[in-house]
Amino acid sequence: MKFYVHTTGCKANQWDSYMISKRLKEKGLIPAPLIDTDIIIINACTVTENAERDIRRFINHARNINGDAKIILTGCHAQVYPERNFDADLIVGNYEKFNLEKWVHQKGSYVENARIIPIEKSSIDGLLPAGKTRFFFKIQDGCNQFCTYCIVPYARGIPRSRPIEEIIEALKALKMKGIQEVVLTGIELSLYRDPSTGKGLSDLLYELENSETPQRIRISSINPLYIDDRFIDIVSRSCKITKHLHIPLQSGSDRILEKMGRRYTRNMVVDIIDRLHNAIKDVAIGMDIIAGFPSEDDSAFMETYRLIEIMDIYYLHVFPYSLREGTTAASMTPAVPDFVKRKRVQALRQLDAIKRKAFYMRFLERRLKILPEGKKYSNLFMKGYTDNYIPVYIPFKKNLVNHFTDVIIKELQGNILLGRVL
Ligand code: SF4
Repeated sequence: MKFYVHTTGCKANQWDSYMISKRLKEKGLIPAPLIDTDIIIINACTVTENAERDIRRFINHARNINGDAKIILTGCHAQVYPERNFDADLIVGNYEKFNLEKWVHQKGSYVENARIIPIEKSSIDGLLPAGKTRFFFKIQDGCNQFCTYCIVPYARGIPRSRPIEEIIEALKALKMKGIQEVVLTGIELSLYRDPSTGKGLSDLLYELENSETPQRIRISSINPLYIDDRFIDIVSRSCKITKHLHIPLQSGSDRILEKMGRRYTRNMVVDIIDRLHNAIKDVAIGMDIIAGFPSEDDSAFMETYRLIEIMDIYYLHVFPYSLREGTTAASMTPAVPDFVKRKRVQALRQLDAIKRKAFYMRFLERRLKILPEGKKYSNLFMKGYTDNYIPVYIPFKKNLVNHFTDVIIKELQGNILLGRVL
């Protein structure tokens, strides 16, 4: 039997798809292209309405080009909204998805309560996806913070973490397979706790420094509340942890933050950003922002806008607020009209472009190290990221793929940074 996996959503879900494929291959199923497969698995995100639209689109597309294949819907969307299944043939929850071979011959809906799910054991053996320079490794799952807008705790269950020993072993295996950069992902990494010792994320990072791992370790995202002096100290001294932190700020208005159930204030965040810059040279700070949360008026939005303007950050990921049934925020009023949300998203995205450009300009004529990736752009260029997550384009050379390469940043063309290989 042949299978194809389509993934939407976060990096943790990419790991989940890797494990789904790996287990199916172990059971004798064969990966195949969409057009020529017997089963199509959609491991789908549900954090926004857009995510839901993407599922529908993909299912229509899949039915058009391979009408005979069986469609299996799984992941967070299947877990939380199994009834909104777009006529998939089989719906399985987040627990069942790691043993799909048991379910592939069924029809209907099989979804256990997410809260009881243990973290699946990692095993990095067999072939890794081809052409990978960066590997997303899930070390934590679940969340019990219940931010009022977020459906994730209902989809992923309570927090649980991979033991430090298992992480060290997996990272060693990744290194042996030639992976140069690993991204530690989780649903809420600040909740990471070694199951037997209770050691947290900072302890883990500290131990990884002297373990055999890929040369670069990136942290996918970190709650500002977790960024204390010890964490900053460990990152600043590390030769492996990238100088790049992605912080889900969500709003710069204390009133909105409180309504969101986020447990920090704008002043706390300003202080954290200052401390990060003081301790870590050239640190790149990215942020998530939600625009148009219920009751966000013009003045609350402008508080966010002005805060982003004054903070020394690199980029923003901006999302319009998306109502998710079952969350506390779903019943909050007044809702922000869609056209206002769109205007706010647009304003913040323009600010993002300004911030990125200003950050890039700092590095003109500087010597940096990038890790070139295999993809070709305009048939001429390849791209590699620096430690602090700047994409640099250089002329394509196959032998540079997955090899750390020193470059001088020469110019900014539009929003593309060009480098010269040294
Ligand atoms: S911390 Fe908040 S936003 Fe993040 S997964 Fe948990 S509930 Fe969702």
